[in-house]
Amino acid sequence: MKTSNQTQEHVNSYYAASVNKVTDYPVLEGAIKADVCVVGAGYTGVATALTLAERGYAVTLVEANRVGWGASGRNGGQLINGISGLAKIHKQHGEGSAAVLWHLKWRGHDIIHDWVEKYAIACDLKNGFVQTALKSRHLAELESYAEEMARHDFAYKYEVWDRDKTRSMLGTDSYVGGFVNYRDGHLHPLNLCVGEARAAHGLGVQIFEQSPVLRIEHGVKPKVFTANGHIEADSVVLAGNAYHRLEPKHLSSLSFPAGTYIIATEPLADDLVNEINPLDLAVCDLNEVVDYHRLSADKRMLYGGRCNYSGREPSSVKAAIGPRMLKIYPQLKDARIDYQWGGMIGIVLNRIPLLGRIHKNVYYCQGYSGHGVSASHCLGEITADAVTGTLEEFDLFASQKHFRIPGSQWLGNQLIAMGMWYYRMRDLL
Ligand SMILES: Cc1cc2nc3c(=O)[nH]c(=O)nc-3n(C[C@H](O)[C@H](O)[C@H](O)COP(=O)(O)OP(=O)(O)OC[C@H]3O[C@@H](n4cnc5c(N)ncnc54)[C@H](O)[C@@H]3O)c2cc1C
Repeated sequence: MKTSNQTQEHVNSYYAASVNKVTDYPVLEGAIKADVCVVGAGYTGVATALTLAERGYAVTLVEANRVGWGASGRNGGQLINGISGLAKIHKQHGEGSAAVLWHLKWRGHDIIHDWVEKYAIACDLKNGFVQTALKSRHLAELESYAEEMARHDFAYKYEVWDRDKTRSMLGTDSYVGGFVNYRDGHLHPLNLCVGEARAAHGLGVQIFEQSPVLRIEHGVKPKVFTANGHIEADSVVLAGNAYHRLEPKHLSSLSFPAGTYIIATEPLADDLVNEINPLDLAVCDLNEVVDYHRLSADKRMLYGGRCNYSGREPSSVKAAIGPRMLKIYPQLKDARIDYQWGGMIGIVLNRIPLLGRIHKNVYYCQGYSGHGVSASHCLGEITADAVTGTLEEFDLFASQKHFRIPGSQWLGNQLIAMGMWYYRMRDLL
């Protein structure tokens, strides 16, 4: 894996090839002062910066590579409700917390929809997501989702599909049922991130690219150093997620980078599109180690899955993911694969995102365990709230006890890989 002090351009993904604008913000040089310095320009960093800028704060956003270079510009584009680990928080805090947690599950969606409209971000945002059952034991989960929606008087359309309906809507016999809702959905992830950064820049956020942060000097006004400059701020927010190695004394061995991979076919003919996904839904199965797919705006099949927890990259993403896609959709056997890529997610052992503070004025927010398009926006806003003095929701996460795996980060990854092996075996049963 690359370290955070080598700069790179975007990976060769479908998203980079179809991005609205290749960003070209300057490299940080010299000394700068700000109210808040945010490190990392993925969704977490950009959402925190944009929220703070909307509230009138002077913000700098420092990115090692390009805006959206990490997971935020490479993901499946599935806008799925929820934050991993919320069920555990619910258990700890009891029924009294249910309403707050339900609201948190959807808050990221509200932020994204609001910003897409307010800042005219062209990112192919569409409503509609179906969770698919691969075996009969998954069917009870589908029913429980519907019951949960009914309990909360969910304002958007939702329904459970039986096997026949699922087959007719998704053109495959592989699924035995589905649960669809029309508040989740899908989008072009890199265009969302780049559009949000443009909005933040328009509100005065100073953005620097190709500027890896190398160290932080703590104090009443912490200083963030890159190779050619530094930023002095009242507060710093670390938003480098699976890619950063800053503050190892506080953060090492708490979250672990895992690779996950996607292929994109050539644009598909209309009859194939109508057969496999006429409603243009995002699709994700209910396995522990999920496969997910959707169509791009130009009707390519974007198929993702397979997590690599041990740090070993597959030698060919196409060879690793292609057969998984063909198992569900043999109809795509002749479809050319135009793009293949992967990226890193941050896995936390108890699945609860890692939020906290170092010396009171250096905040961190990371570790969505692979489920972060919506969550990063919600938690970015909660981090912005914390920076501006409202800590209640931040502390819901920051007060969680996290287990630190002793030994090296490498050893931690091997232990996570062993743990996930158990879940993979369960998926196969
Ligand atoms: C292939 C893939 C598919 C996925 N699919 C989905 C999906 O469909 N739905 C979903 O909800 N989630 C999905 N995810 C997860 C989701 O993309 C992430 O949870 C989310 O994007 C995390 O955002 P982030 O801003 O915290 O991190 P990132 O987007 O990884 O951003 C971190 C940024 O920090 C920068 N950085 C790191 N260190 C430094 C430093 N020292 N100095 C300056 N900058 C630094 C990096 O260059 C990077 O740009 C997927 C992830 C991957 C990789």
